[in-house]
Order: sequence, then structure tokens, then C-alpha cells
Amino acid sequence: MEKGLVLKSTGSHYRVRLDDGRVVECVPRGKLRLNEIKTTNPITVGDWVSLELNSNGVGLITAIQERKNYIIRKATNLSREAHIIAANIDQALLVVTITQPETQLAFIDRYLVTAEAYRIPTVIVFNKIDLVDSTIQPVLDSYISIYEPIGYKCLKVSAKTGQNLDLLKQILQGRVSLLSGNSGVGKSTLINLIEPGLNLKTAEISNAHLKGRHTTTFSEIFELSFGGFIIDTPGIKSFGLVDIEKDELYHFFPEIFKLSDKCKYYNCTHIHEPGCAVIEAVDKGEIAPSRYLSYLSIYDDENEKYRPKLK
Ligand code: GDP
Ligand code: ZN
Repeated sequence: MEKGLVLKSTGSHYRVRLDDGRVVECVPRGKLRLNEIKTTNPITVGDWVSLELNSNGVGLITAIQERKNYIIRKATNLSREAHIIAANIDQALLVVTITQPETQLAFIDRYLVTAEAYRIPTVIVFNKIDLVDSTIQPVLDSYISIYEPIGYKCLKVSAKTGQNLDLLKQILQGRVSLLSGNSGVGKSTLINLIEPGLNLKTAEISNAHLKGRHTTTFSEIFELSFGGFIIDTPGIKSFGLVDIEKDELYHFFPEIFKLSDKCKYYNCTHIHEPGCAVIEAVDKGEIAPSRYLSYLSIYDDENEKYRPKLK
């Protein structure tokens, strides 16, 4: 029996990378299903599978290893079955820029909430630092002073000058990474410098296309020549907010979660309650105002768009 990583899925068969580096085409043997949620696809890229190779070199997938995390695209039909986009993601790299274009803090916060909910650690990659002059520098510093203290690694790079690309490579090495960020921040330029010839779809799909109801393109994992994998997911500029119970939203703001057990009421929403340790910390300047505003704004959203969890 062999073990391998699913690199690509076409719906009926799968491309799997064996531990020794060989890549084989596989079909599932019988019905395979992990009982986590109802999904349209039982096996997804990033899955670790057990397989048997038959004499003509085709693999039979016999089991799927339990996933440490996975991201889904919500179902649009009434069956409520979700499509799993990818599984076992070691980290997300969120590429942002302070200028050309300016990435909004609210966008970063929404991304981070979703990544937290999916249990995916995120590194924030500030690209285009060659454009940072004396007016932009304080903005860059302030962004970093918001995110680094609450546990998000921040990396400053420039695809134009090549600055710190070695560090970016180090972060990617040996891990399965998801690359995200608004269009125009330099995702494809960065990846082409790091791994020439790797043309990710991530950057090519336009927003208009994304809004189409049926994006039939499948995600795929690419192996990096220096070790590690990049998940290419058409449409993952950012993932939509998962269904988060609004009462649980604070779990996904690490700095709010850390304080929440100091609130007077166990069911504190951190919005209006007396004796709220979070509101106190905002007042004292210990929680960034932009972060708290994002919390309020997402809380409001969730109020309106509230849907029961997919199960
Ligand atoms: P994507 O949509 O995120 O894939 O962004 P692209 O890689 O297509 O880059 C968008 C534009 O930004 C292109 O014109 C790039 O040449 C430019 N760009 C990318 N990285 C840098 C950088 O570090 N500095 C500067 N000045 N421009 C960059
Ligand atoms: Zn509170």
C-alpha cells in the first residue's frame, strides 16, 4: 500500500503524488466518504490518501486520511451540499499592498476571520515595498503594528527589486500554501519569480467570471522545485465568510478571544455590555480601533446573513 497527496481532481479521477515523488492517476475504490460534512466531492486536492497500484500503474484509492482543515465553496442548490476546494492547508499567504492598490484593513480582517474559522494560519505578505516612500512608510508601519502583535507573521517584499524573496521562499518551503490577495497586488509576479513557469490561475480569473454561477475549473496543487506546494484555486482572491455563528465571531479575533474570559458576563458580545474587558481594551488603545470596527461590522453582517452551519 502506498500513501500520497492528491494534486488534482477531475471529479472522476485523481492525480496523486506518491511519497517517493512519482505521480500516478487514480480512481477511488468503491465509495469513500469522510463524515464531516455533505459534499459534492468526496476527495479533494490536498487530501492524503492510501492507495494500491495495480499492474498497469493505475492507483486505487482505498482510504482518505482525516483532514486537518479544508475550505469549501458553498452550495447554491437546495441540497446544501458544499464543494470542498482544498484540504490540509498548512498556511495562507495573504498578499497585500499599501499602495497601487491600497488593500483595505477591513478586507484583511475579513480574510483573517475566515482563515481562523478554517484553522489556517496566515502570513501577511506586504508586496511592492519598493514603492514605500516617506508618506507611505508610516502607513506600512501602522499595518504591521496592528497584525504582528496579535500573532500574524508579516513579511515585507518586493517583486520588483527582489527584496526578501529568499524569506518568502523559506516560508513556502516544505509546506502546502494557499496564495491569496486582491488582484493587482503582485501574486503572479511573485510566484513567477520564485518558481518560473508556474502559471497560476489564481490571478487570471476576473471578478466578473467569479460571479458566474458555475465555475467549473478545479483547483490544483503544484509542487515547488525547492520543496513545498502551492494550491492554485481559481477564485480564491479571498474566501467568502464561512457560516460563523455570530456569537462565536469573537473566537476568530485572537486579541478579542484572549480577553473574553475577563468579561463580566460569560455570554458577552463585546459590543455594549458593562464590565466588558474587550471594550475596556479598545478604550485603552490596546486593541486596534480598525480591528474592533471590523468585528462590529462583521457581527452586523452575520446578523443579517445568518444561516445555520452546514452539517
Ligand atoms: P496579481 O493580480 O496579484 O497577480 O498581480 P500581478 O502580479 O499581475 O501584478 C500587478 C502589477 O503590479 C503588475 O504590473 C506588476 O508588474 C506590478 N508589481 C508586482 N509586484 C510589484 C512590486 O513589488 N513592485 C512594483 N512597483 N510593482 C509590482
Ligand atoms: Zn466582552
